[in-house]
Amino acid sequence: MGSEAQELRFLLIPLMSQSHLLPFTGMAKHLAAHGVSVTVVMTPLNALRYKSVLDHARTLGLAIHFLTLPFPCKEAGLPEGCENIDSLPSSDLMTAFFDASNMLQGPLEKRLEAMEDKPSCIVTDICFPWTTDVALKFGLPRIVFHTISCFTLLCSHSISRSDVMGRVKGDDEPFVVPGLPDKIEFTKAQLPQMMKDGLDDLEDLLDTFKAAELTADGVLVNSFEKLEKNYVKCYQKVVKKLWCIGPLSLSPGVDSAKLDRGNKPSIDPNRCLDWLDSRDPKSVLYVCFGSLCHVSASQLVELALGLEASRCCFMWVIRKGDHSQELEKWLSEYGFEERTPGRGLIIRGWAPQVMILSHPSVGGFMTHCGWNSTLEAVTAGVPMITWPMFAEQFYNEKQIVQVLRIGVSLGVRRPAEWGEEEKGGVMVSREAVQHAIGRLMDEGEEGAERRLRVKELGEAARRAVEEGGSSYLNMSLMIHYVRKMQNRKRSMTRLMRHY
Ligand code: UDP
Repeated sequence: MGSEAQELRFLLIPLMSQSHLLPFTGMAKHLAAHGVSVTVVMTPLNALRYKSVLDHARTLGLAIHFLTLPFPCKEAGLPEGCENIDSLPSSDLMTAFFDASNMLQGPLEKRLEAMEDKPSCIVTDICFPWTTDVALKFGLPRIVFHTISCFTLLCSHSISRSDVMGRVKGDDEPFVVPGLPDKIEFTKAQLPQMMKDGLDDLEDLLDTFKAAELTADGVLVNSFEKLEKNYVKCYQKVVKKLWCIGPLSLSPGVDSAKLDRGNKPSIDPNRCLDWLDSRDPKSVLYVCFGSLCHVSASQLVELALGLEASRCCFMWVIRKGDHSQELEKWLSEYGFEERTPGRGLIIRGWAPQVMILSHPSVGGFMTHCGWNSTLEAVTAGVPMITWPMFAEQFYNEKQIVQVLRIGVSLGVRRPAEWGEEEKGGVMVSREAVQHAIGRLMDEGEEGAERRLRVKELGEAARRAVEEGGSSYLNMSLMIHYVRKMQNRKRSMTRLMRHY
C-alpha cells in the first residue's frame, strides 16, 4: 500500500444497475488494495445484494464501506422495491427510475454535510450530471467513470460532433464513422436511442452527460490499453485526463471474487463446475444475454432449436424475466432437455458468469455484447458469437468482430426494442445460430487464429491489473492526481473564503 494513498477517501456513486454496480464494486476493491478508503453509495436492497463485497473486503482487510440512501421509489412513481434497473417491470418506467436516481442528490448532500471526514474525491457514474454541483459545493475533485469502452466513446463522440447523421437517408443506409483509426460502418438503426436525431429530450440529456464529462477532472474507463490502444490515444485528446483501469472483473488477489458478483447464483456453483469438469476442453458454448435483455419466447425457442441442431455442448442461461410459461411449456412438450442429453445445461436465473467463462471447458460465448460481458470473455480468453440487442451493444459488436477479430457475428441488423418480445418477433433464425456456432467452435485455421488472438488478449488483460501492469499504474497515477487536485481545491476554497 503506497503512503501516497494514505488518508485518501473516495466516494463512488454508481447507477443502480448490475452492469454499473459490478464494475463500481470491482473498482472499489482495486482502489482499496491501493490503500484508499472507499465508500460506495448504495440503496437498501442493493446493499443487501452486494453484501458479499463487504464480507470479502473485511477478510482481506480492505477499507470498503457502503453509504446507504433510501431510494425514493414512491416519490418517483416506481413500484416499491424497484431499486435496480433489472427489477423494472417495464421500460416505460426508465424515466421514473432516473428521476428517483437524481433525487438522491439532496439526501447525499445532507449526509456529506454531517460527515466529519469528508471524501477527498467523487467518482461518479456518467449518468449523474448533478454530481458536478455536489463536487463544487464541497470543493471536491470529480472523476467520471465509464462502464463502456474507449472505442464506443470515440464512435459516439465522432458521430455526434460531425454532420454525418444529417447526410444519411433512412435508417438502414450504412455510413462511415468519421475520424476513427479503422473504417467502421454503422446504420442509424444500430445506434443507441440517444444518438438518433428527432428525439430532442434524449439529445438534451446526452448533451448534459457530455458536458458533465468534459468538465470532470478526469475520466476512468473499464478497459485496458493493450485492448484498444489507438482508441485510447484518440479519446485522450477529447477529455482532460483519461485512465484505463480494467478489467475490473479481475479482483486483486482473490479467486473467490469470481462468485462475489451481486446476485446469488441460481445454480449451485459446484454443480456448474462438476458439469463443466465432465466436458472436453474448449467444447462448451456458454449462452447468456446479460442482466437486462428481454428476449421473446418465440426467439428463445428458435435459439433452442439452433443449439440442438449445432450438436455442440452448451450452458444456456435463461434470465428470470424471460422464464415465460410459454417457453417452459415448449421446453417440456418438445422434450428439449431429453433431446440434448448430457450436452446441455440450462440455468434459470442468475449464473456465476465470471466463474463459468474462466473454466477451461468453455470454448465460446454467445453474448448480447454488453461491455462487461465482452470484457469478461476477453479476460478469460473466450471467443464470442455476437448478438447485440440495444444500447451501445452494436458498437461492441464492431469492436469484437471487426477490430479485434475475436468473434463471429449473427448478423443482427437492428436493435430489439424493449417490449418487442410481446410482438413475438424472431430476429435470429435457428440456421443462423447453428451456422455461427459451427464457425466459432471450428477446429480449423480461422477458429484457431481467433482463439489465439483472444487468448493473447486475455493474458494481456491479466498482466494489466497485476502490480506494474498498465491498469495498475493508471490507478496509481489517478490516485496521485486526485491528491494533487484535492490540495489545489482546498487552497482555492480557503482563498475564496478569505476574500
Ligand atoms: N451477469 C452474471 N450472471 C448472469 C447475467 C449477468 O454474472 O446470469 C453479469 C455479467 O457477468 C456482467 C453483468 O452481469 O458482469 C452484465 O453486464 P453487461 O454489461 O454485460 O450487460 P447488461 O446487463 O448491461 O446488459
